[in-house]
Amino acid sequence: MDKIDICSLYLSELAQAFKEDGIPAFRAKQVYGWIIKGAGFDGMKNISADMKKQLAQKYTAADNVRIQETFISKKDGTKKFLFALGDGNIVEGVLMKYNYGNTLCISSQVGCKMGCAFCASTLGGCVRNLTAGEMHNMLILANALDADKEHRGVTNIVIMGSGEPMDNYDNVVKFLRLASSPDGLNISPRNISLSTCGVVPGIFKLMEEDLPITLAISLHAPTDDIRNQIMPVNRAFPLKELLPACAKYIERTKRRLVFEYALIGNMNSSVEHAKQLHKLVKGLMCHINLIPLNEVEESPLKPAKPSEVEAFIKTLEKLGVSATIRREMGSDIQGACGQLRRKYLGEDKR
Ligand code: SAH
Repeated sequence: MDKIDICSLYLSELAQAFKEDGIPAFRAKQVYGWIIKGAGFDGMKNISADMKKQLAQKYTAADNVRIQETFISKKDGTKKFLFALGDGNIVEGVLMKYNYGNTLCISSQVGCKMGCAFCASTLGGCVRNLTAGEMHNMLILANALDADKEHRGVTNIVIMGSGEPMDNYDNVVKFLRLASSPDGLNISPRNISLSTCGVVPGIFKLMEEDLPITLAISLHAPTDDIRNQIMPVNRAFPLKELLPACAKYIERTKRRLVFEYALIGNMNSSVEHAKQLHKLVKGLMCHINLIPLNEVEESPLKPAKPSEVEAFIKTLEKLGVSATIRREMGSDIQGACGQLRRKYLGEDKR
């Protein structure tokens, strides 16, 4: 029988499972308290050796995922983790320090099947989905490691690592509820962003979840013609379906939406493209996050020139579109999606 991962359970579910085994409810509370601190059974100090042994036969604790390696940026203190999962798979996570708090960027799948032309995560395809417990376990570990003197730990989460969250919908939504549970790390949904490449049915589902998170859409192009060239998902869900879904999401949740737009040279970064982008999002309560393209070795796509980036954002500003350029974090430690995992697995052929 597969063991039950306590990181995948709410406290109420653990209490119920304990009850069925005749273990009193206060034990569930004690064990859960240790779990969210990142403990394995060995580290649970007020639990007897006998009970630890009993539990370890049926359950796994917060050591089901391990931090295999940590890379720390000398430039900005960004930490990049390689997490080793129970089955030996490796996924990445990144912890970025901002003035307002600490943001953990988390993966939702091992690899990705969406095939975006600029993205390293998708090069080896999708190996498997992450479970809610694995994502929660990674959060717990990063939080425990970083609970510094002020015990701030992780204050914000972005689901912007490897994988397409809408392709692993149920696990991702359970993870969001675990992370924001008052019995757990209690991270406010308002401090959580989820990014999708534009899987429209997922957007419609998410708006009904009553989760006041920020939805980010990887747009990256102002026309179907361009988007088709760099994002295969656009053939399934073209802009005439994606944009109305976004409008509906904003109307339903009353939450401002974010469009991510990576500026790629000779592709989507001219002043004309900025004008087209304005037309596309006009009237929507949204913000445009401009991302300088991170060069991926296997891809011929190049970042737009700094002067083009400047002209692009100026054009948007003049037209009244709210836009900022994303600060690059951890550029000295392979900060971009999927690059570090590939390096670790030796798939970048260097
Ligand atoms: N699959 C989801 C989650 C990934 S989020 C999505 O597509 O939104 C990671 C963000 O980084 C996405 O906006 C993605 O398009 C972007 N990205 C991927 N590779 C990049 C690169 N080389 N340079 C800049 N942004 C990149």
